[in-house]
Amino acid sequence: MIVAPGATLGVLGSGQLGRMFAIAARRLGYRVHTLSPDNDSPTGQIADEEVSASYDDLDAVRAFARRIAVATFEFENVPAATVDVLSDAVPVRPSGAVLHVSQHRAREKQFLDSIGVPVAAFRIVDNVDGLRAALADLGCPAILKTASFGYDGKGQVRIGRPEEADAAWASIGGVQAVLEAVVPFEREVSVIVARALDGTIVDYGVIENAHRRHILDVSLCPARVAADVGRRAVALARRIAEAFELVGVLCTEMFVTPGGEILVNELAPRPHNSGHLTIDAHVTCQFEQQVRAVCGLPLGSTTALGPAAMANLLGDVWAGGEPRWDAALADPRVKLHLYGKRAPKPGRKMGHLTAVAATVEEAEAAVRQARERLLRA
Ligand code: AMP
Repeated sequence: MIVAPGATLGVLGSGQLGRMFAIAARRLGYRVHTLSPDNDSPTGQIADEEVSASYDDLDAVRAFARRIAVATFEFENVPAATVDVLSDAVPVRPSGAVLHVSQHRAREKQFLDSIGVPVAAFRIVDNVDGLRAALADLGCPAILKTASFGYDGKGQVRIGRPEEADAAWASIGGVQAVLEAVVPFEREVSVIVARALDGTIVDYGVIENAHRRHILDVSLCPARVAADVGRRAVALARRIAEAFELVGVLCTEMFVTPGGEILVNELAPRPHNSGHLTIDAHVTCQFEQQVRAVCGLPLGSTTALGPAAMANLLGDVWAGGEPRWDAALADPRVKLHLYGKRAPKPGRKMGHLTAVAATVEEAEAAVRQARERLLRA
């Protein structure tokens, strides 16, 4: 059964991903309600209604669920009890089972392993003795990541020598974690797919990602990888979406080694920062695909309008004062997206720039130069 335009879509979480989802939903004629602990949030500014409540306020979640036709997420760290309350009232897409796996690194690795998707060598670690044993097994350097609530490099520490085990364990707060071998990657890439209620899958090919300080900095589409690497990356992402029986959007982040080996790093069962360029560079963006998928509608075309690049705008861009928006937009190919956040803190994602050009190199130069022009001397 489809959820037809005019109905109300509920989104848990209220950041920029929910905002761009809400914009796409509004364009299609849906109403949008958002629930999160925040007020005047990026999503709330676009939504018809913004409910400010904690995710574990189950009465508030129940009341929220009564007023929506379908529920979706803009981030995956929602408690299981919250998802259960929603599921009693409305379809929840993607399902609680998908969230259960993707909100926990250890479960995610085990799931990927179980369906034959290659990941970096890893060990699940429950205490400091376990960490020492895992370091002896995997060798150094290695990366210790908390099992839950990690994003943008938070809850992670690189371990260069076995003697650093105690300090590393303390620094992540002594909670269940995954120790991973460091992958000597040549490139980081992601593949974003959408899967409809009837099982149809579409993808945007391979996107190339450069990080700074563990935060996505620049994305390029298409990625500069060999055709055969690209085909395998897309096949892996599709396989994961199928195994999840996903309804919605899935981003699979991967490492590509110099030998062309692909290792999956992380899954996000929602639109992803690396897919923001699809708003300006593809016939149907990742957010519209999420709307279509969760509403049971056919997916849209993922045809690219041209090679594209996206550069994130972090709060750091405000360090010298209000950015020079006019200077950035002096290049007519550059598109500006701001998320309506009031406080530009360092490292906080405030917006992004996208350009479509004749080549990815030109698109990359356009967004990097536009970002430079934003800065006041
Ligand atoms: P994550 O939070 O897992 O997405 O990690 C953030 C970033 O840290 C990644 O995008 C990589 O740049 C780096 N990183 C994470 N895990 C590894 C690894 N096993 N080997 C090398 N680099 C990694």
